[in-house]
Amino acid sequence: MRKIFVLSAVLTVLAFNVNGQQQQSLDAMIERDLASWLSTYKTLHAAPELSHREEKTAAFVAAELRKLGFTVTEHIGKYQNAQWNGYGVVAVMKNGPGPTVLVRTELDALPVDEKTGLPYASQVKMKNDAGVEVSVMHACGHDMHMTSFLGTARMLTELKSRWSGTLMMLAQPAEETGDGAAAMLRDNLYANFPKPDFAIALHDTPGLETGKVGYTPGYAMASATSIDIKIRGVGGHGSAPETTKDPVVVAAQFVMALQTIVSRENSPLDPVVVTVGSIHGGTRYNIIPDEVNLQLTVRTYKEDVKRRVLASIERIVRGVAASAGIPEDRGPIVKVAEGTGATYNEPQLVERLVVAFKQALGEENVVKVPPIMASEDFGNFGLDQKIPTTIFWLGASDPAKVKTSRETGVALPGLHSALFAPVPEPTLRTGVKAMTSAVLELMKK
Ligand SMILES: [Zn+2]
Ligand SMILES: [Zn+2]
Repeated sequence: MRKIFVLSAVLTVLAFNVNGQQQQSLDAMIERDLASWLSTYKTLHAAPELSHREEKTAAFVAAELRKLGFTVTEHIGKYQNAQWNGYGVVAVMKNGPGPTVLVRTELDALPVDEKTGLPYASQVKMKNDAGVEVSVMHACGHDMHMTSFLGTARMLTELKSRWSGTLMMLAQPAEETGDGAAAMLRDNLYANFPKPDFAIALHDTPGLETGKVGYTPGYAMASATSIDIKIRGVGGHGSAPETTKDPVVVAAQFVMALQTIVSRENSPLDPVVVTVGSIHGGTRYNIIPDEVNLQLTVRTYKEDVKRRVLASIERIVRGVAASAGIPEDRGPIVKVAEGTGATYNEPQLVERLVVAFKQALGEENVVKVPPIMASEDFGNFGLDQKIPTTIFWLGASDPAKVKTSRETGVALPGLHSALFAPVPEPTLRTGVKAMTSAVLELMKK
């Protein structure tokens, strides 16, 4: 027994030393390449492209992966709107038997006029889907994700002796519009390329100090569904309501009636948000209009809850219109758009990654964070939780600023803000270190 104990103690020490040495070599490789990643980051930041239009960004990412020896395929993605090109990129590296691990980055930026004043701030303007020229900015940090992704690809090609399996680096377009992952899947992603055993991604966040990563086991982000509703009435003169069926009043009643979906129809243990983000009707003071148009967003974690909420919305709008005496042939028109699924971080996968993160970054730099009702289309790659997936948060803010923000209660510029400015160097270092360690954990020999 004693001998076994001593032997196992020796093995533990040896394993610890090997891990320690491996960590040192990864740290040294990262420091060696950091300056070049910084320059890649600034180049990408200064050249953002809108969703559905990521042509140059995708070509750049594809070329970099090709240089590293990956088998690269471009132009992946089929949208429902046939006028848009799919700019998805998949880069595969086979390295012996073992699991297939998908690492994902996004390519797109936002219609935001950058106000950071940084020397590498974006000056870019381009036409959006409607043909209107807008300013463009990487206000969600997808430039940080791409650079960490390319750095990770580089580290893993150099560390091939330490992993076995198939590495699948995937750059997706149109995350901000929520249709990029679906477009890649519709283009037979998992038939033309290996179907992954695990899919992982990161997202930067101003709420966490640079140098840290955050994790959320289970549901981390909500599904998002957009709904257009046209409430039709019978218009007329504003002085003669008795000759009309006023859709403005019906719309007002509908908005209030919606509030009971969350408060009276839903379990308090299932988070739901129903927001009316837009309501438009009428042209002037004394005309009762023919219709009012509303745009809603619904957020839920669970699919069955989403289905029930969507059915409730439809039932309520029809009921309110009927009770106002609107004839059936003038009933409301409800259109539910293609949405984004919830992001579920498979708890066992999270647990494995947390161990790897703690070893790479130190226990104090790996923190559990609560889920949010924002959404992401990364979960689509998990095919409704059939493939274990995890997205983790990458801290991007100066620790002193986070401290002040927590003390004063004044939030730092958030994602999608014109002032969002991650601290590049330490965030890249942590992004590459965390993602590389995550893949090595899943594919270790
Ligand atoms: Zn975003
Ligand atoms: Zn984003």
